[in-house]
Parts: sequence; structure tokens; C-alpha cells
Amino acid sequence: MSGMVDGKVVVVTGAASGLGRAAAVAFAREGASLALADIDAAGLAETADHIGGALTIETDVTEAAQVDAMVAAVIDRYGRLDCAFNNAGIEGKAGTTTIEYEEDDWDRVVRIDLKGVWLCMKYEIMQMLRQGGGSIVNTASIAGLVGLTGSSPYVAAKHGVVGLTKTAALEYARLGVRVNAVCPGVFDTPLLERILGNTPERKEMYLDAQPIGRLGEPEELAEAVVWLCSDAASFVTGQSMPVDGGYVAQ
Ligand code: NAD
Repeated sequence: MSGMVDGKVVVVTGAASGLGRAAAVAFAREGASLALADIDAAGLAETADHIGGALTIETDVTEAAQVDAMVAAVIDRYGRLDCAFNNAGIEGKAGTTTIEYEEDDWDRVVRIDLKGVWLCMKYEIMQMLRQGGGSIVNTASIAGLVGLTGSSPYVAAKHGVVGLTKTAALEYARLGVRVNAVCPGVFDTPLLERILGNTPERKEMYLDAQPIGRLGEPEELAEAVVWLCSDAASFVTGQSMPVDGGYVAQ
């Protein structure tokens, strides 16, 4: 049986954990050759183990030279880059209101969650244009579509990712590069654990806010990412697709 992304070369950022790891597993199952990027070398090795081996590239997505080198490493190994899942991100200091946020903390979130996505797109699209096309999926969030208290830089950065996605999609639509985003709702990953801590009340509050009555499993986001990257979504570009159990439909 052939996979949805058979023979495609795919880079995944934030691949050492959570949603990135689950996407790597799904891409591998669907026939892709994988390049895994993250700042966390140990986590990268674990993800590579899960999928029976992959190119791993220690990369800080906020550093242009490192992102450039990431794409170069993919080309060195596989000769092309068909799909990219730009997913590395941090939550920031959740629960800190707009006036409480410290400037350094604000800058850090925007640097990783917004500038990091732009830098990845920049070097990936340069390569995709050289080879005649490709497909990109960025990780935004439901916080890219609606406000969320206590997360001002995160919400600003994720709204920014939605805007970047639309703009790049328009710029390269006729040149064979599709650019979309996914907007995850609340998924059970280490990031969520850090936000919720060990407080059962907060967990209950999060669960109550989910129309579907449960949290998402990382594999459920991965299915959407693989589809958007694949040729099955060949007429879809510029979209930011909620995968959120109905959250933004409220
Ligand atoms: P996670 O913490 O499990 O994984 C994030 C990964 O990004 C980690 O491996 C981390 O090392 C990596 N990373 C952080 N900074 C980096 C940098 N500068 N360069 C390279 N890698 C870096 O979190 P997750 O839940 O898997 O989140 C993945 C993405 O999904 C993030 O963009 C996050 O904002 C988004 N998201 C998550 C949820 C959720 O409920 N978990 C909801 C909406 C959006």
C-alpha cells in the first residue's frame, strides 16, 4: 500500500517532543524521508529511534545561520526538500497578563514562535523555488484565531503565524509552493503539562472548555498535518485550519 507522502523529503521542527514527534511518526508511516530539527538533541535522538532512524539536525530556529544550515543539511542528505512542518514553539509564561509581562519574556516568545517560523519559511521556500515547488505547514494555535487571557505574546505571535501563512501562500501560489497552518486546540503534550502544572482544578477548567469533552491526542493533529502537506491537499493554500475539538466554533 502506498503512503500519503511516499518518497517525499520532509523536515519537522520541534521534532524532539509532543506534536512534532507525533507528526514525525505519521510522516514516516506514510512513506516520507525525515529530517528532524530541534534544540533538544536527546529528544531528537529519541524521536529518530521511534521511527527507525532519520537525519537529526540540532537547530535553534531563531538563528538564521542555523536555519540556513538546517536546510543545507537536508539537501546534503536527500537532495531536495518537499515538505516542511514548522512547529517549534514555546508557551511563554502562561497566566501572566499583558501589563505583568517582562520585556525579555515577551521578546523570547515572539522570537521563537513568530520569527522562528518566518526564518524557517524563508530558507525552505528558497530551496523549494529552486526545485520547482513544495508544501509548508506552520503550527499556529487556536490562540492564532481568538484571544486567550494570560498569554499576550503567545497570542500575538500565533496570530502573526496565521498572517505570515496567508502572505507567503499568496506570494508563491503560482510558483508551486503551498503554505498552510494548523491551529491546534488543547493537546496532551509536555507543553500543556507545563501550563497546567499539577493542579487538577485547572485541568478540569480546560476540559470543561472543550466542546468535544476531551483533550486532543498528538496523533490527531499529525493526521491533519500530513494531509495538508500531501498532494491530496493540492488546491489548499493560505489556510489556517483549526484542529481543536470544536473550540473556535463556540
Ligand atoms: P513541546 O514543548 O512538547 O514541543 C516543542 C518543541 O519545540 C520542543 O522539543 C522544544 O525543544 C522545541 N523548541 C523550543 N524552542 C526551540 C527553538 N528555539 N528552536 C528549535 N526548537 C525549539 O510542545 P508541543 O505541545 O508539542 O508544541 C508544538 C507546537 O504546537 C508549538 O508551536 C506550540 O505553540 C503549538 N501548540 C501546542 C498546543 C498544545 O496544546 N500542546 C496547542 C496549540 C499550539
